[in-house]
Amino acid sequence: MPAVSVVLLTITTGAGVFSASAQPSTAGSVITITHVRVIDGTGQPPLEDQDVTIAGSRIRSVRPAAADKPAGQIVDSSGKTLLPGLINAHGHLALVDGTGNSAGYYTEPHVIAELRQYERYGVLTMLSLGLNRDLVYQVRAQQRAGTLDGTTVFSADRGIGVPGGAPALPHQPDQLYQPRTPQEAREAVDAAADRHAEFVKVWVDDAHGTLPKMSPDVYRAVIDEAHKRRIQVAAHVYALADAKQLVADGVDVLAHSVRDSQVDAQLLDAMKRRGTYYLPTLTVDASFFDFADHPELLHTPFFQHAVSADTLAYFSSAAYRSKVADDPSTAQHRHDFAQAAMNLKLAYDAGVKVGFGTDSGAMPSRVPGFAEHRELQLMVDAGLTPLQAISCATRTNAALLGISAHTGTIIPGKQADLLLVDGNPAISISDTEKIVAIWHAGKSVTPVTTSR
Ligand SMILES: [Zn+2]
Repeated sequence: MPAVSVVLLTITTGAGVFSASAQPSTAGSVITITHVRVIDGTGQPPLEDQDVTIAGSRIRSVRPAAADKPAGQIVDSSGKTLLPGLINAHGHLALVDGTGNSAGYYTEPHVIAELRQYERYGVLTMLSLGLNRDLVYQVRAQQRAGTLDGTTVFSADRGIGVPGGAPALPHQPDQLYQPRTPQEAREAVDAAADRHAEFVKVWVDDAHGTLPKMSPDVYRAVIDEAHKRRIQVAAHVYALADAKQLVADGVDVLAHSVRDSQVDAQLLDAMKRRGTYYLPTLTVDASFFDFADHPELLHTPFFQHAVSADTLAYFSSAAYRSKVADDPSTAQHRHDFAQAAMNLKLAYDAGVKVGFGTDSGAMPSRVPGFAEHRELQLMVDAGLTPLQAISCATRTNAALLGISAHTGTIIPGKQADLLLVDGNPAISISDTEKIVAIWHAGKSVTPVTTSR
């Protein structure tokens, strides 16, 4: 059978209204991706020269390439690699308007635009880790009903911060709780639970002593109440001492790296014992200087399709590079980044469950879609193998979100959440950017254009 170009498989949807999870238009379709290298997300070495068959929304089979192909469409993928769709367990929606943050930006069109941007960069699931308005649940309901596309969204609701303290981002009153007492904290958790939030978020950070920090009494109440309601708790954290206390108190996810000091055996042992997840979010610290240090990042279509012309011009300007160079906090961010990279390697090698997050969407320099691929590169720079980094972003994050039974690995029966790229990310992690096709629950998604 002759090779069929991937381009022919692109499904045009006039209104952009189609299902990420669904069946009607794809239930009968069968697609076989032939002669492809498979990185299945489990961390095992790639399988060479495989045929992967998608039937409807699911992966039907993964087997060595054979002469007899199933009926249906054939996508000849020699020299290409198939990996699971990426999962971002720490992102935000509709907080950034161009080169600034805007409290009024969290509206349905902006939320949907960002969900679509993630999807065309191959990030097929994301957890919006706080600062959500309630409309996130309308969006989530539309996705579940099969009437809205975009990355599959999970919600950590509004988030629980500190009066006068973190998070210090512009927001509307209906995007954040700032409880003064443990009782108020429990009420905030109950409200989130009543909206069927998947997670609750707390911020535990005094910004180097410049802001009030959430008291352990408050976050203990959050954790206790959330667990009663069967919701997991993720904590923004910076300092080792806070990380230790949060883990001891039962937090489920440390949503950033420890950055004030080296992680120690006490923390790592406790995290392993309790099964606490660790999200390194290296792009958080790198985002303060990465574009100034590496202007070549800005020169690719892969980046340029993720931002507006104004944003591109801003990060490309000499004024931006001077701003970074002159900012007295840049040295601190460089230190934090180096510490985070070191701690990632220590945590991973100790056997802690290392997931994957970016904090993309929280600031203009954390660009949804782009940031996730950059995070993979930074994790490899920090000493993980490409396969380890990919597994953090796929299998481990699926487990973190409680969706391992459905997605996160390329195994028959799982949802067909797949990213087809040129090259071999097991050798060169930046090959994840060479996206040629995406399937989200079996549905073809037009990927970001990687040519100019
Ligand atoms: Zn965040």
